[in-house]
Amino acid sequence: MVEVFALCGGYLELDRASMLADLEAGQPWTVPVGCYLVVHPRGRLLFDTGVHCSTMTDPVGRMGAERAKRIGVKSRPGDDVVSQLATMGLDHQDITHVANSHLHFDHCGANESFPRAEFLVQKAELTAARRPGGTPGYNPSAIDYEHPLNYHQLDGEHDVFGDGSAVLFPTYGHTPGHQSLRVSQGKGSLLVFAADACYTRENMDRDVLPRILWDAPTMSTSLAELRALRDRKGATMVYGHDPEQWRAMVHAPAPLRA
Ligand SMILES: [Zn+2]
Repeated sequence: MVEVFALCGGYLELDRASMLADLEAGQPWTVPVGCYLVVHPRGRLLFDTGVHCSTMTDPVGRMGAERAKRIGVKSRPGDDVVSQLATMGLDHQDITHVANSHLHFDHCGANESFPRAEFLVQKAELTAARRPGGTPGYNPSAIDYEHPLNYHQLDGEHDVFGDGSAVLFPTYGHTPGHQSLRVSQGKGSLLVFAADACYTRENMDRDVLPRILWDAPTMSTSLAELRALRDRKGATMVYGHDPEQWRAMVHAPAPLRA
């Protein structure tokens, strides 16, 4: 039996037009940062680690001045994965695997808190984040992901527990090595964690990309593949930063219901 839990990884305020490129700029919007814990008989997988808790008290120090100008931190104490795991009686030693959808600051902020886990990241993502001279979109200080961690670099799909219940798969475009996660809990149920391959349901329904992206045609292809999973295979799609969906979702310590 595989269980999934939704953990709050923070709240950010940004311009709605940065997430839906055809909207007029200047609409502040507070969005959730979701992290998801998959509990399997062979281990526990954390998909994304959210915003680092110090971002609440020192946004410039942690995010850098440029990003802190554009993005407000709206998290309250307890809105971070380490605190959220504690509500379930878990700490870092209980997490066997961490997968980062990608290495933007709001998806890998607490990586350093899991020194014993095996990290599962696409090779193309680590390469982009570590490119000498930097790649736009990644925190130039690399403070979120450059720690002595056990990074296992993936090249395409990866079946985390070897039984098809939790599979990471490439959804490139938002970044060069973005990946999403699909979880099967049996009886045909399929939960898909899109992360930033699709910020909100509106992006998918209206086929609108965000302004924040690496390559638009590649991202469009990934978005279409995710939509086909949702519409043709009956998957429940969990969007990366959808306030409406997050409000309606059951959060940890209770398990997520598909
Ligand atoms: Zn994000």
